[in-house]
Amino acid sequence: MEKKEIFTDCTLCYHSCGTVVTVENGRAVKISGMKSHPLSKGKLCVKGANALEIIYSDKRLKKPLKRENGEFKEISWDQALDEISEKLTKIKDRYGAESIAAFSGSIGVENYEMSSLVHLFLGAIGSPNFFSVESICYRMRILARQLMFGRYFVEEPDSNLYILWGHNPHESDFPLKNFIEENLKKGSKLVVIDPKKIPFAEKADLYLKIRPGTDLSLALALINVIIYENLYDKEFVEKYTCGFEELKEHVRQFTPDWAEKITSIKAKDIIKLARLYASVKGASIHQGICTLDQTKNGFFNSIAISILQAITGNINISGGWVYSPPPRLGYFGLKPTKKPLGADEYPLFYELFGKKTSCGVVSVVPDEIEKGKLKTFFVIGGNPLVTMPNSGAFKSAFEKLDLVVVYDLFLTETAKKAHYVLPACSHIEKWGVAYTYNVCHSIPFLMLRKKCIEPLYDSWSEWKFFTELSKRLNLEKYFPWKKEEEFVDSILKPTGFSFDYLLNEKPEGVFYAEKKYEIHDRLFKTSSGKIDLCLKSIEGFGFGSLPRFEEPLNEDLKKDYPLILTVGNRIKYFTHSQHRQSSTLLRFCPEPVAEINSKTGKRFGIEDGEKVKIKTPSGSIAIKVKFNDNLIEDVILVPHGWSGEANGNLLTDHNLREKFLGYPEFKSLQARIEK
Ligand code: SF4
Repeated sequence: MEKKEIFTDCTLCYHSCGTVVTVENGRAVKISGMKSHPLSKGKLCVKGANALEIIYSDKRLKKPLKRENGEFKEISWDQALDEISEKLTKIKDRYGAESIAAFSGSIGVENYEMSSLVHLFLGAIGSPNFFSVESICYRMRILARQLMFGRYFVEEPDSNLYILWGHNPHESDFPLKNFIEENLKKGSKLVVIDPKKIPFAEKADLYLKIRPGTDLSLALALINVIIYENLYDKEFVEKYTCGFEELKEHVRQFTPDWAEKITSIKAKDIIKLARLYASVKGASIHQGICTLDQTKNGFFNSIAISILQAITGNINISGGWVYSPPPRLGYFGLKPTKKPLGADEYPLFYELFGKKTSCGVVSVVPDEIEKGKLKTFFVIGGNPLVTMPNSGAFKSAFEKLDLVVVYDLFLTETAKKAHYVLPACSHIEKWGVAYTYNVCHSIPFLMLRKKCIEPLYDSWSEWKFFTELSKRLNLEKYFPWKKEEEFVDSILKPTGFSFDYLLNEKPEGVFYAEKKYEIHDRLFKTSSGKIDLCLKSIEGFGFGSLPRFEEPLNEDLKKDYPLILTVGNRIKYFTHSQHRQSSTLLRFCPEPVAEINSKTGKRFGIEDGEKVKIKTPSGSIAIKVKFNDNLIEDVILVPHGWSGEANGNLLTDHNLREKFLGYPEFKSLQARIEK
């Protein structure tokens, strides 16, 4: 019997925890935690521990499928690629290259190879219309921090004070949960700001129950107290920031009493938090992955939180926000000559400091399809018909496309609308690059993602798929790699670590850079060389240069939609719409449930466990209700990623967007509940 133990990573969510895959006679029989991994330290969450159930699920796509008369039939890869390339050529000739778009998600998440190949393919075709989650999640904080610091600073996992702001590590951040648990034993302090009393609130020094969508008013009041009580780090502010006087004047009006009326947090608790936060060095605010982004004040939320870190001097010190150099990976996308869709409406999303993103704004997609601008969509490892705002609009728009090609592990809701569905490899069936430096945890670590087993069934890696498709389109010069290993080696090249070195000499990975805590002259790459507390560069958008709170709720809707709705609540058993093929994970969480406070439920005549209708001006869903008195009253939480009648994105509106970057409103919608 041949038995191997292979060091690699888990890609079932964005943390890329280290794993050891045991392979016996070509079959993976066990996945366990890799003890030497700096982030996961030998531990795996419930998803990672059950990864083999997903990889070996009998629901995996086994052959390419073609939809004819509403039915799918199995075909060969050759037939699929011949037909796709023929149709694509006709569409390009008739409507132009820009009518061809792609949505790149990932199988799991954090799949650099996948998005590089999709970019390269679209570039070779001549279309700029690449879409991904970038325009609804996470990039907002990156841009905000880059604007203010000239670089992207990230939270350290070992802090003396953690502020979990709309962030629930028990459901969405397993490595951080472990770091916090360890550090609480050593005396770290903890604050939780959330509409729901999450598990860490039980252990917190301070728990503030906030009304969804009002975070910016809290942040402004905290800045007010820290400045006017002279609690800020004067030396740091003087040496390393500019715009402090404007900021001071601006926040004068945003007192704790003002914020109490908006947030429902007592003014005395706001003052208590400001004093606690400003008294601890090595403090870090961990904002939710998207909770503070996907709302009306999203961009200013990220700016205000960055100001808090800066005025307390919690920048580039151990435990605060630090600069951790990202790995320099090879990128092969071609520079598009035209802008992607959404770039004109949201220029700040598109371009910052002369650097342009290659992503379009995904919320504009349904309307652009309806207008006839897009005719083809490649969906590579994603399920936008469930996970993007307004599933109804996405579904009906996708039905109008001339060609939809989906590449995935399973027959997703999006795949069901495709003309061709192609079977993908899981992360242990192909080669790749794993790294961790920026996803809430600053550890510059790089590892080769190993191909542990041969592709199952007739699945192909995305490298093979795009290489073979490009040959039929006479685009093979853009895909010059003879083997997948060669392609991954070229991605690694700029890091200075070769494929062979990482495979043979460092299978457990390497620290590719050293984190330095000092503040040197070139640390802040802004035009002033300092942290810009007052952002003159965004004045042109007409919303000022300092954060200003806007009420997210529409007064006119309150009569018909009296409740606040937050959709997209994370569940630890699943990543977005994925992983429901695991019977173990489904046993833990067999069905979607919306949470409301029992008092709210009773006020609307709803019983615990009853199936209800939740309605917004955009749509309605049917879902079971669970009473949870840990949740603030008058709020409904709808979980993320379920398809069918409980899909939370049937309630969202792709045209209700944040003003700077076009992020959709998911967190402070208005809704009603009915029996
Ligand atoms: S947190 Fe869980 S799912 Fe995410 S990478 Fe780690 S083990 Fe995998």
